[in-house]
Amino acid sequence: MEKRYDVIIVGTGAAGLFCALRLPRDKKILCISKDALDGSDSFLAQGGICMLRNDADYDSYFEDTMRAGHYENRKESVEIMIKSSQKIIDDLVGYGVEFDTKDGHYLFTREGAHSNNRILFHSDVTGREITGKLLARAKERENISLMEYTTMVDWVCHDNVCYGIVVCDKDGKTTAIQSDVTVLACGGLGGVYPHSTNYRHISGDALALALYHNVKLENCDYVQIHPTTLFTRRNERSFLISESVRGEGAVLRDKNGERFTDELQPRDVLTKAILAKMKEQDTEFVWLDFSPVPKEEILNHFPNIYKHCLEAGYDPLKTWVPVVPAQHYFMGGIYVDKDSKTTMEQLYAVGETSCNGVHGRNRLASNSLLESLVFAKRAARDIAERKSFKVAEKFEDLINMDGYEDLPSIMENYHAMVVQEIRKERQMREKKEAM
Ligand SMILES: Cc1cc2nc3c(=O)[nH]c(=O)nc-3n(C[C@H](O)[C@H](O)[C@H](O)COP(=O)(O)OP(=O)(O)OC[C@H]3O[C@@H](n4cnc5c(N)ncnc54)[C@H](O)[C@@H]3O)c2cc1C
Repeated sequence: MEKRYDVIIVGTGAAGLFCALRLPRDKKILCISKDALDGSDSFLAQGGICMLRNDADYDSYFEDTMRAGHYENRKESVEIMIKSSQKIIDDLVGYGVEFDTKDGHYLFTREGAHSNNRILFHSDVTGREITGKLLARAKERENISLMEYTTMVDWVCHDNVCYGIVVCDKDGKTTAIQSDVTVLACGGLGGVYPHSTNYRHISGDALALALYHNVKLENCDYVQIHPTTLFTRRNERSFLISESVRGEGAVLRDKNGERFTDELQPRDVLTKAILAKMKEQDTEFVWLDFSPVPKEEILNHFPNIYKHCLEAGYDPLKTWVPVVPAQHYFMGGIYVDKDSKTTMEQLYAVGETSCNGVHGRNRLASNSLLESLVFAKRAARDIAERKSFKVAEKFEDLINMDGYEDLPSIMENYHAMVVQEIRKERQMREKKEAM
């Protein structure tokens, strides 16, 4: 394993790969993933990616994002995201990404809390289409090295400057790797929850390191629960039934078959309504009725969801499907500015791991892929424009390599730190809001 790169990117989801591709080709880049290169939540995204369709939709898109976020969003970040969206889609198309079209025009769908149809999609596997193409392009680049089953276990830092990271490879060997810049693109924290739509290995490791090294975090208690995941008694990653299914007309029913809420409310509001109904009727799930959605729409727009429900024993064309809320997304994270810089020098954070304030208290559906890409691109530009970096005089002396052997215990410890921080922030906020 080489021991020096210009840029290390931790994570090979949409944010990490896009950042790598937007960096100049003369930068020597290492991208690592704790799991397989395609084992990221970005590959799981179903619904789509938002885009500002035209100037007339700007105010409405801005307002929808702010309203969903309970007006706690950083306005400047929301503005940057929306205004950058068309260029980001052009970039993706340039990398070979295809979105569904009709007669040569993009098709746009709609999800909960959106006033207009402004979501581009590729069947119901948009994340796989986008991230798969980004990964393919990254593999073609000579300046990008990709390493899978390689876990970041610590940062090498001193006096609030990051000089690299410590990794543990698939054989359990630990190495300190030096870099001018480290970019954290480690995704969310679903792995610390018993029920989550996220991959189990995506568990907030970067947040634990930020806590340990005194890097600022923001809104760690802002965790989104997705209202509709397929109910199962098996202990596995929860399968998401995209909001666009409800956007296209599917309705929720209680145990008596009655509709009980507006299915297109923001996720947090809808989740509360479902949980309240389950409590009132003492049930483990509510029903999702696909019957208002035309058969061709189910088969053509949602083939993956259809197939998964069938495999679980429910044919959406014939029966209602049991659904239940589960942890889904993390709005908080490592605090970053509008160029994705953390409070530690030479350390950036992008994607779900970061908090640039776009989502406020609650994310608007299909804003996260877009936000990840917009701010990953800004990080890349900021890094490219930097003329010089601090270099550690004696890199090896900054870190004691003893004590990293027991990876499972390290990870367990990191998970406990993250869980404790979420609880602490939640309690503090509840107290503050009660006053
Ligand atoms: C089921 C599902 C459906 C979704 N649908 C949509 C949608 O339709 N539209 C939308 O906009 N968003 C959607 N989202 C959210 C969106 O997919 C994610 O927010 C976004 O893809 C996050 O991208 P990311 O690059 O930040 O992280 P991820 O794609 O999660 O990638 C994280 C990467 O970090 C690596 N990593 C983590 N910890 C370490 C470590 N310690 N060492 C090394 N590597 C590490 C992982 O291996 C992985 O490669 C969905 C999410 C899920 C789970």
